[in-house]
Amino acid sequence: MDAEQIETRYHIDTDWYRQQGKSFEVMAQSRMCASCKKKLGTETEERVPSMDQKSGRVVFQVQKVPYGSNPFVAVRDCCGKKKEFISASTPVLEAVFRLFLANANQPLTLDDVQQKLEEAAGYAQTGHHVGPDLLRRLLDHDRQYGIRPMALPTAV
Ligand SMILES: [Zn+2]
Repeated sequence: MDAEQIETRYHIDTDWYRQQGKSFEVMAQSRMCASCKKKLGTETEERVPSMDQKSGRVVFQVQKVPYGSNPFVAVRDCCGKKKEFISASTPVLEAVFRLFLANANQPLTLDDVQQKLEEAAGYAQTGHHVGPDLLRRLLDHDRQYGIRPMALPTAV
């Protein structure tokens, strides 16, 4: 292995919530829009990927689940699409948390986070500058959102 640096990717670490005795679901559901909050817990059909043992392929099964039990699905399909979900006045860590909610918790480098935040919040117009160094400092000190580096670099 040479000295090439593998760029750290961050994500919402739902295990961290369990370790802290916190509920990720409650945290995420409180960010949902009014219409989603109203639907929380009502029975809904979701397409859930699962492995078909015979063919070894991923197939989708329709399951009945309480709405919002997977907050990533609800936010991706609804709240995360609304313009006001992330705005220039959203505190930075809150905005990062919402970013991961809306992208289904796809791991991102801090450069990616910066770029997506700027797009979503329109920081360019407001003169905010939220660079990777600031993001790293904020995330290192965070004890609230559980946005953490992936334990292992993603193998390609
Ligand atoms: Zn919604």
